[in-house]
Amino acid sequence: MDQQQFYDLLNDRMRRYGASPLDPTQVITITASPDYLASYDGQVAALVACNLLGRLSPSVQIGYTDLPIHPHLPWAGSSLVRHTMEGMVATNPFGTYGARPLAAGDFRFHLGQDGHETIVHGSGWNAYIGPAPSPLPPIKADVGTGAALAVVLGAAHLFRTRFGAMIDPFACNAWDWTDVPKLVEFSPIGASVGHVVTAGLGSVGSATNYFLALATRDFRASLIDHDHVGIHNITRSPVFTDAHAKIGLAKVKAVAAFLREAGVDEVAVDPVAFHESALWNSREAGSTDVLISAANEFNVRYHIEMGFPPIQLYATTGRNWQATLMRHVPGAKACSLCVFPPDEKFAPTACAMDGPRPPQTAVVEDRVDAALPFLSFAAGIMTAAEVLKLTAPGYPLSAERVMLGLKGQPLLVGTPIPHRTGCLCEGRHKAVHQAAVAGSRYAEFAI
Ligand SMILES: [Zn+2]
Repeated sequence: MDQQQFYDLLNDRMRRYGASPLDPTQVITITASPDYLASYDGQVAALVACNLLGRLSPSVQIGYTDLPIHPHLPWAGSSLVRHTMEGMVATNPFGTYGARPLAAGDFRFHLGQDGHETIVHGSGWNAYIGPAPSPLPPIKADVGTGAALAVVLGAAHLFRTRFGAMIDPFACNAWDWTDVPKLVEFSPIGASVGHVVTAGLGSVGSATNYFLALATRDFRASLIDHDHVGIHNITRSPVFTDAHAKIGLAKVKAVAAFLREAGVDEVAVDPVAFHESALWNSREAGSTDVLISAANEFNVRYHIEMGFPPIQLYATTGRNWQATLMRHVPGAKACSLCVFPPDEKFAPTACAMDGPRPPQTAVVEDRVDAALPFLSFAAGIMTAAEVLKLTAPGYPLSAERVMLGLKGQPLLVGTPIPHRTGCLCEGRHKAVHQAAVAGSRYAEFAI
């Protein structure tokens, strides 16, 4: 395959989304304040910046000095520069990736609370982009989520403005998902989160597992997906590489290899569609602690809801530069079919004549496989953050639905999910559902 064919496939989903790739001749150099880079949060920022910007652009230089990878991260002790560089090269064999000091004409993507006119800074559960210095409160706890989120905000700004300066400040937090930074010292590092089943290992499912593993390897992962990695998948997933695409590796196997290499010991895979999965269909009651429902094919939500699922967490990427996080707790008034009615696309249009249509809270799921890389990363961070917070006192901490909009200045809005009249969940017996999740780790959240 020549370079042009590779780039046509690599950028196919971005073009389908209506966006064009960045100017490949504009070099992006990632720099970082030394004290920030020595911290866990600073290293998460560096890992995510290289991973995401290396997929958004074929011209990225590492301008920070090398350090051993932080003890709380996977790959602890190995060279941060070598690891992040190898990650970029693995995604795009035709790219120009290297490590050198900042040069004239580079676009500088600076990580830290200070050190450049404009900064990308995450600390604790808080994220900030804009002019220096950072307004975020000092947090002692290692968290990583705010750092990862800040990089996504910065990358979205870079992409949207085509290398414009981050003049307008924006701050938010991933704790209660508001635009007010929070002084929270809860650390999810090493948290034991239980048995996490992921239905769908596309961009969002794979990104969720990636961000989860940056914080903890103390979970049991079950991965269900029938699909294989293609070149068009590479830009939106922090896990998939050109080597995976070359052999058409099953997505579950690519994510399993990543998790095992990161240090997650218990990983099971089922390379079939969700409704055919023995891992799911033959599971014992209460054996799944949390379900990441990141698939949207074969009426998957129908099969999930009919199977009396445990707490469900997932995020979708939308047509309008947004990522939307959802939470469905057993017994809550709205299930995932309330949000995404089954077979909506085949619904008879004549229903408009039968009376008023249900309120448009029931949005049609985006069935076209197209999204921008930073939206998929945002969806993965949002979902992983919720999984990590399951062990925090006072959970849940936010509305059932949280939308992050990145089309202009970032926007973060939380709303409850209303029940959809006539939804299948109306016929579901609450006691049966409660019995089905009894014994699972987060059954206490059932209503
Ligand atoms: Zn429902």
